[in-house]
Amino acid sequence: MTELDLRRDLCRWAKRAWDRGLIGATEGNLSCRLSEDQILITPAGAIKADVECEDLVVANLNGEPLDGKEASSEVLLHCSVYQERPDAGAVVHAHPPFATGTALAGRAIPMGVLPEADVYLGPIAVVPFAIPGTEEVGAAVRPHLKDHKAILLMNHGALTFGRTPGDAFCYMETLERVATIYWVAETLGKAQGLPDFGAAWARARSSGGRI
Ligand code: 13P
Ligand code: ZN
Repeated sequence: MTELDLRRDLCRWAKRAWDRGLIGATEGNLSCRLSEDQILITPAGAIKADVECEDLVVANLNGEPLDGKEASSEVLLHCSVYQERPDAGAVVHAHPPFATGTALAGRAIPMGVLPEADVYLGPIAVVPFAIPGTEEVGAAVRPHLKDHKAILLMNHGALTFGRTPGDAFCYMETLERVATIYWVAETLGKAQGLPDFGAAWARARSSGGRI
């Protein structure tokens, strides 16, 4: 992929995240690896649906912009993923309402209820609140990055990462759909657990930690 292809791809998924309601107003940010030690990231404070290829910011893995533009205020959150997970090629930070609201209510999105959550996402971590845009947000998620690719940021939003922007986006959309279905089930009654298929589930679940 050329740099222009990467820029187009990141803008496409940013627009889709906005269109799907995973972010609204100027919320959220997306990034992808440009090279071993550089990333492309959305600019600070923009409506991410309107971000154009030339608006994206090139930064190093310490979060320093290299092109004179202002990178997302969460660039250090993104960098903590790239530093901890060499296999991560893209990161999405969004404010998905159902997933964020579930954590806000002190409820976990449980395993053992929906196959998508178990097999596709793996366990979903919840990390304590840190002020948005500070390096503490990156520090809060860092201990969870080895074993989780979907992380809820208490009182704030969510983080997902994958090999490509499309993968990281799909993890975020799946997280929100799982939270929405769980909310419907718990509102109408009680979410029923998955049947126990023993080793078959264990095999399927073991893929959950991969990105
Ligand atoms: P930016 O517009 O700076 O990326 O910030 C949005 C956000 O979600 C902060 O947590
Ligand atoms: Zn945010």
